[in-house]
Amino acid sequence: MKEKLFEMHVHTSEVSTCAVLKAEEVMKKYSLAGYNGLVLTDHMNQRTFKDLSLTDWHDLVDYYLRGYRIMKSIKIPDFTVLLGMEITFNDYLNDYLVYGLEEDFLYNNSNLMEIDIREFRKLADKNNLMIFQAHPFRVDTVITEPYLLDGIEVYNGNSSHNSNNDIADLWAEKYGLRKISGSDFHHFWGMAPGGVKFEDEIKNNNDLIQALKHNRFKLK
Ligand SMILES: [Zn+2]
Ligand SMILES: [Zn+2]
Repeated sequence: MKEKLFEMHVHTSEVSTCAVLKAEEVMKKYSLAGYNGLVLTDHMNQRTFKDLSLTDWHDLVDYYLRGYRIMKSIKIPDFTVLLGMEITFNDYLNDYLVYGLEEDFLYNNSNLMEIDIREFRKLADKNNLMIFQAHPFRVDTVITEPYLLDGIEVYNGNSSHNSNNDIADLWAEKYGLRKISGSDFHHFWGMAPGGVKFEDEIKNNNDLIQALKHNRFKLK
């Protein structure tokens, strides 16, 4: 069977203040570029919500899901959209990509940004989520103990930062962490340099988690 190419790190302007392209444009661009799907990883951080007067967690989640819901309302043949997030806890600037995310998990776990990676690891284990640290060697990050992670991004395609991908790759080798690749797509330029190729069909979160857990993928 033909491999399935997925983007693992992408933002939409409906939610991520730093992103330029709307959900619909993002989806069409990826489909045209030959991808079979994407995991939408909009930012779940204080900056995203700071200018909105959202006091209720439920309203915040509704806002967070806007890009995802637009994508879900558009049907493109052989193109799958899954919900993820790039979360930044309030303690450090580290960003973590979360896969296997369901809408209910977000609604049922308020104030997610106020916990830390240790607490989030426990929640992830209970809810069949996987955590991959995004660009773990940008200069504003701190080291996360490898046992708290399912893997790390060893390729981050965002050209506005130096992600020190070479060091991330060495780190993953040293600690036996899974390696993933993401474009960290925000802008018109630098379209889709990243992604992973899955051996199997990925139609839902369960397919995605199984493929990641069992390392049934390689980097683009
Ligand atoms: Zn961003
Ligand atoms: Zn990002």
